[in-house]
Amino acid sequence: MKEKTGMILAHAGEEYDQYFNAIVPPVFMNSLNIFPTVDEYYDSDKRDKHTYCYGRVQNPTVRILEEKITELEKGVESYVFSSGMAAATAAVLTACSCGGHVVCIRTAYGPLKDFLQNYCREHMNVRTTFIDGDDPKEIEEVLEDDTQLLVLESPSSVVFRVQDIKKAAEAAHAKGALVYIDNTFCTPIYQNPLELGADFVMHTASKYLGGHSDIIGGSLTVKDPELGKRVRTIREQIGSIIGPMEGWLMMRGLRTLEVRVKEHGKTALAVAQYLEQHPKVKKVYYTGLASHPQHELIEKQQSGHTGLLSFELDSTTQEAKEFCQALRIFKIGVSWGGFESLVMMPYAREDEETCKKMGAGQNVIRIHCGLEGTENLIEDLEQAFQQVF
Ligand SMILES: *Cc1c(COP(=O)(O)O)cnc(C)c1O
Repeated sequence: MKEKTGMILAHAGEEYDQYFNAIVPPVFMNSLNIFPTVDEYYDSDKRDKHTYCYGRVQNPTVRILEEKITELEKGVESYVFSSGMAAATAAVLTACSCGGHVVCIRTAYGPLKDFLQNYCREHMNVRTTFIDGDDPKEIEEVLEDDTQLLVLESPSSVVFRVQDIKKAAEAAHAKGALVYIDNTFCTPIYQNPLELGADFVMHTASKYLGGHSDIIGGSLTVKDPELGKRVRTIREQIGSIIGPMEGWLMMRGLRTLEVRVKEHGKTALAVAQYLEQHPKVKKVYYTGLASHPQHELIEKQQSGHTGLLSFELDSTTQEAKEFCQALRIFKIGVSWGGFESLVMMPYAREDEETCKKMGAGQNVIRIHCGLEGTENLIEDLEQAFQQVF
């Protein structure tokens, strides 16, 4: 099966004879395509992959990229957007109508929660119920007859809570709701939520899909062509397609997705194990550790783990900040999924009540294990411990 993945990354969607048999497709840096006659313009099927009309609708470079993502996620159609948030909001706008209801996990991506709680509530009268989501029964209980969308992120940052995608999707579908899942952490290499019942799978390309910390982009993959048509319409009307250059860079990033995530995961596991045995560390949050409270479910629905993890020190928030600042290789920064190691304290300014709901203390430290080498990263953590404690 993994043999197939390598083939998708290298060759899926490519039509070499369409661009002089170049091994790499060009960046189609055009805003429009021309037609020989007026009628051929009107008769063209703009969903056909050989008919392009206008760059806000579709672009040949972007289309190749989308075919790769569709095959990776075992879907039917994918659309690539100018950001992960553009993809996420397109899914919400596709699924929700005025007066509807959304169920969303509490540890979902912050700006998406803000969009639901603010824009969708104020302008569409959409109600959102936030839940932990660890227990499928909890999901079942909050679904209502008019629930239109269930928003999942499994695992979700910062404490890597996991939802049972299959059970959650069954419960949502019984109420007629669609299921959206942010699959950014696992990437399509380690989890394929469409096969478990999800309707929309979202990725942000600023993380592993791009992998080089040089682009912003996002994707939505669906398995229902009718739903795909609606997603495509929203993207066209809002005008949120990715630019051809970013699309091309995302495709270049994808070529090495599998080898990169394997390496990130290998390093993260070694770092997590190192931290777990360290006397100054109270708790480590990583899906690859057997100590994860949902280990059994993780083994069932994920086939691997990538490079992001969190830990709590036996320390004050101030000492944790000093620890972050004592690191030399891990840079202080908000994203992850690129080649570089990063560190952040996502709850450093949250109050106690919020921290409790989100599952970790104010002093929790999140790190992304980059590609600088496992030994180097562990040495960096070790010297920071020695400096601060
Ligand atoms: C970064 C991130 C997003 C947002 O993606 P953008 O491309 O920045 O809009 C969404 N979900 C997760 C899990 C993320 O880490």
